[in-house]
Amino acid sequence: MNIELLKELLENVGIPVTAEQVEMFKTYQNELMNWNTKMNLTTVKEEDVAIKHFYDSLLGIKVFTCQSGKSMLDLGTGAGFPGIPIKILCPDLKITLVDSLNKRINFLNHMIKLLGLSNTETIHGRAEDLGRNKKYREKYDFVVSRAVAKLSTLSEYCLPFIKKDGIFIAYKGPEGEVECENSQSALEKLGGKVSNIYRFELPLNEGVRTIIEIKKERLTPHEYPRRPGIPNKKPL
Ligand code: SAH
Repeated sequence: MNIELLKELLENVGIPVTAEQVEMFKTYQNELMNWNTKMNLTTVKEEDVAIKHFYDSLLGIKVFTCQSGKSMLDLGTGAGFPGIPIKILCPDLKITLVDSLNKRINFLNHMIKLLGLSNTETIHGRAEDLGRNKKYREKYDFVVSRAVAKLSTLSEYCLPFIKKDGIFIAYKGPEGEVECENSQSALEKLGGKVSNIYRFELPLNEGVRTIIEIKKERLTPHEYPRRPGIPNKKPL
């Protein structure tokens, strides 16, 4: 799909896009498709990238709005979703992109340079290790994550990074409410509480998405996150 149409669709829901940002999305789409012929970055086809990756990633802006100087970590960002589209539209956020696969980090570093993104860093590592590291633990205002794990596991990956009173924004499909119900005890242990569930429809009938907003009300106990692999194998 044409990025000019993406601009129109975003502006219909109150998200303005400049001509320069349109060019950045075009560059991102082209590079993603070029690199995808050499390595597995996405299964989404070129004509669907604008809605299924860019528009979808930007739904979060309706929840947290662009706030200058705040820090955001994107856990399991893959080819940069939702972190890079958010950074393009909110240039004053400080963004940290985390992924456990190094070849994806190489792509991300290339994109950051090509798009000239400031205050954007990448970290190659697993949530279970980085979340125990003093340098990253309880340091971020926001953590976002899309398509990484079910909410109970994902909460153990993400909540340790968030400052007290910060926000975790989990991007989910249509079944977000059910995931929330199944994650109550995990959130209770980790210091989080669901503060809102937003439902969105993607344009062109591409489906329903929910965004779960979780407030970090208390610091996360030291025993979390558990060792690599355990949060997924034995969800709280
Ligand atoms: N968020 C992207 C990618 C989803 S695929 C999108 O929505 O398109 C899931 C990504 O999470 C993969 O790139 C994988 O390497 C990463 N990942 C999975 N488990 C992880 C963990 N424990 N720590 C860090 N990254 C992880």
